[in-house]
Amino acid sequence: MVDNKIKELEEYAKINNIPIMQRDGIEFILEFIKEKNIQNILEIGTAIGYSAIRMASSFDNVKVVSIERDKERYLEALKNIDQLQLADKITLIFGDALDVEITDKFDLIFIDAAKAQNKKLFLKYENNLCDNGYIITDNLDFHGYVSMNIEDIGSKNIKALVRKIKDYIDFLNNNDKYETIFYKLGDGVSVSKRK
Ligand code: SAH
Ligand code: MG
Repeated sequence: MVDNKIKELEEYAKINNIPIMQRDGIEFILEFIKEKNIQNILEIGTAIGYSAIRMASSFDNVKVVSIERDKERYLEALKNIDQLQLADKITLIFGDALDVEITDKFDLIFIDAAKAQNKKLFLKYENNLCDNGYIITDNLDFHGYVSMNIEDIGSKNIKALVRKIKDYIDFLNNNDKYETIFYKLGDGVSVSKRK
């Protein structure tokens, strides 16, 4: 049942232009969860629940809290999670992650929200990271734009976004508290570990 639903969600995302994780990206995260024995995950950016469902349904002992600010997507995710009877493993929060207050600690924080907000989200939610925890960020290649010469990018909006993503990459590289590894898979994934 889960496998069929996952295929259905991938189709739905394609048709409705919902930027869910790419396959090799999510598979990388699932491997990572297994290898590091991750149990509590905070996800920022639920969309329709695809990545949360993949993480929660792949492991008996994994729980996910996920935040989404778009009402329609939040409701869609809620429906999908209920259909799979995963409500006891996935807690959805409707709201802007920059305003939400959470006190729990997590051993993995997965940032996959508005790309211009990565740094703000990192700085806010590192307070919710366990001592030995990891922060994973998605879309650091941003469809290949980040490795392009910035002057060759036609769209002003994309240019601004790429600048923000580059700033975030610099922030990660210069952050003394974390060791970050960048992976060229999916749409570009980073893994930051507390030193
Ligand atoms: N993780 C999902 C995809 C998330 S797409 C998956 O792979 O299945 C990014 C989502 O983040 C969008 O639905 C968008 O509405 C949401 N988002 C962007 N900025 C946000 C914020 N500040 N707070 C909460 N949600 C946010
Ligand atoms: Mg993403």
